[in-house]
Amino acid sequence: MTTAPLILWFRRDLRLADHPMLSAAVQTGRPLVPVFLLDPQTEAIGAAAKWRLGQAIEVFQASLAALGSRLILRRGETGPQLAALIAETGATGVWWQRRYDPVSIARDSAVKHLLRSAGLEARSCAGAMLLEPWQLQTGAGGPYRVFTPFWTALRSREIAAPDAAPTKLISPDHWPASDQISDWHLGKAVQRGAAVLARHAVVGEAAARLRLDRFLAQTVESYADQRDRVDRAATSDLSENLTTGEIGPRTIWHEARAAMIRGAAGAEPFLRQLAWRDFATHLFYHFPQMDRQNWRPDWEDFAWRGDNPDAERWRRGMTGEPFVDAAMRQMYVTGRMHNRARLVAASYLTKHLLTDWRVGLDWFADCLTDWDPASNAMGWQWVAGCGPDAAPYFRIFNPATQAEKFDPDRRYRDGFLAEFAAPLVRGRQNPADDFFDAVPKSWQLDPINPYPQPVINLSDGRLRALAAYQKRKT
Ligand code: FAD
Repeated sequence: MTTAPLILWFRRDLRLADHPMLSAAVQTGRPLVPVFLLDPQTEAIGAAAKWRLGQAIEVFQASLAALGSRLILRRGETGPQLAALIAETGATGVWWQRRYDPVSIARDSAVKHLLRSAGLEARSCAGAMLLEPWQLQTGAGGPYRVFTPFWTALRSREIAAPDAAPTKLISPDHWPASDQISDWHLGKAVQRGAAVLARHAVVGEAAARLRLDRFLAQTVESYADQRDRVDRAATSDLSENLTTGEIGPRTIWHEARAAMIRGAAGAEPFLRQLAWRDFATHLFYHFPQMDRQNWRPDWEDFAWRGDNPDAERWRRGMTGEPFVDAAMRQMYVTGRMHNRARLVAASYLTKHLLTDWRVGLDWFADCLTDWDPASNAMGWQWVAGCGPDAAPYFRIFNPATQAEKFDPDRRYRDGFLAEFAAPLVRGRQNPADDFFDAVPKSWQLDPINPYPQPVINLSDGRLRALAAYQKRKT
């Protein structure tokens, strides 16, 4: 039995409850040194996601401090940083919660190798997903490619119950030095958008838990009927908390199941939706090129347009198609976009504008505070038609009819398109104006300018997309 400290390497798991690695570490009775490393892989993530991560780190530091512990911050390559921390603390092992994207897998495997070859303990733990990506297999023994059988398999499995949060963490005799989070400037890339984003983020484990409780108490009943309504707060909004690990998926699973057993109508569809997150990770784990390569190889020759001026108008919420522009502006202002709006905005880019889905994927990765590499890649490939279990390419969302259906009173569109609001009633805290406050000044956008004409007539865009699809088929 050693009493040497253990290093707990936190990444996207910034919580105390439902954390198998943390619970197991506390049970060892050893001193624990929680660390967060700002390595080049983390530095490379999108602007809004990086800003949001900074917010999560700050709150998590406070949570650890309340338990008499700390979160040590270091910047640089993981190998040398961990080696330095081991030398400074006398730790004999490093534990972490697993991640499943190829960048993290490569980094974590290298760290594991380095530690083990130095005779140190390296331990990776579950907890980020309901099940590990290799735990579900088809009858033939391979990974799932279609969601419905994946869901049928997942729901029949026992999902581990969440662990309670520890009440105390034993400190090492000497704490190693830590960077200051303010010196990392994690919000630098969002520039003036940071203040606007801050008004829309719900940060930290306690806030995430409250969000879940409120959702299950008040909103879940109507989830099945209302979740596509972009003008209503009808979904959980938990994706930003799941992505930073401020809440664990097993907590959500068990709480929603309890609601289902109590008879809450929307709880089962909500559980099914949560399983999409596991499905995305399952796909990405088994097809690690999913964020760069068409999942269906026969799409490699499709005549996508690369980045182009129409795509730039799409990014800036200036296509002249109100539902699409409202969606793009919602994302810039809040760091979020409603799922239905993601479907419509992605369909418009890949079909009406015939633009490569990777152009859109990159922009979402830069702007979303709930950015998740697996869900983003799966979402884009699904809409574009080249992904597993994807919507067929010829299923082209019409933004105008989608708006009539899911934003019948124009509340969503008017809420994010300042050009339509009377200047005198526009206030500084209005999300529609927030957009103009948040975008780079170099875009030269002003709400007093008239709303733009459509980039393309909807039926022309649809016909062009269908013609490109026909050409590919022949
Ligand atoms: P709820 O409806 O309350 O669902 C609960 C949870 O289930 C979500 O928080 C999320 O974790 C999971 N979930 C729900 N729908 C999906 C889905 N279709 N795919 C995967 N997980 C789902 N989600 C991200 O978390 N990060 C992304 O980067 C991301 N990019 C996307 C890109 C495109 C083009 C599309 C079409 C979808 C993308 N999604 C992404 C999925 C989905 O839009 C969001 O998870 C959802 O809008 C989050 O809102 P919510 O938390 O209120 O969801």
